[in-house]
Amino acid sequence: MPQDFPPKRPAICVFCGSSRGADPAYAAGARQLGRLIAGHGFDLVFGGGAIGLMDEVAASAHEAGASVTGVLPDFLHRRVGPSRHVTQIVMTGSMHERKARMFELSDGFIALPGGIGTFEETVEMLTWAQLELHAKPIVLVNIDGYWDPFLAMLDKMIVEGFIEKSLLTMLRVAPTPEDAIEELISLAGPI
Ligand code: AMP
Repeated sequence: MPQDFPPKRPAICVFCGSSRGADPAYAAGARQLGRLIAGHGFDLVFGGGAIGLMDEVAASAHEAGASVTGVLPDFLHRRVGPSRHVTQIVMTGSMHERKARMFELSDGFIALPGGIGTFEETVEMLTWAQLELHAKPIVLVNIDGYWDPFLAMLDKMIVEGFIEKSLLTMLRVAPTPEDAIEELISLAGPI
């Protein structure tokens, strides 16, 4: 008997806001991304909370048939509770353990707009890629130019000699969720 039966589908981890943000385009993008993840045969890994853009992605991916794994630290599970739109919840003892589990369970990362949590998670995946600890694709969905200031900061870091230009090959930027999925597939190879 194969160890992994039925075979696991590739999983995309989505980092995004625990808020919905000011622009309704963010929630619309989150729902669209969830549908696309399911439609392309991926499963979803996310932060597990019943809140903000996170819950929008989970709801639409789950509705469209993806297996959805929420990775939630115990204290947030107690404080706010898990999303209803999950196939399974993985509980962790800390935020650090949560991020490690999200990394292990995923084959690539897509970041939607979000706050400092989203920013921190995305930057850490990029930091690990820079250190050659992994080669999993990382794609920003730049809805309405949300990530432009971050991209400008990366350019500044290159100009000032703090990061290599090659780092930008590890980070792709897409204007829409559709383009983000296409980018991720092109980086990860055939599914
Ligand atoms: P932010 O981008 O700052 O809204 O943070 C998104 C990230 O914050 C999530 O991936 C979680 O790490 C964390 N987070 C904040 N609030 C919650 C919550 N109520 N449930 C789950 N995760 C949360």
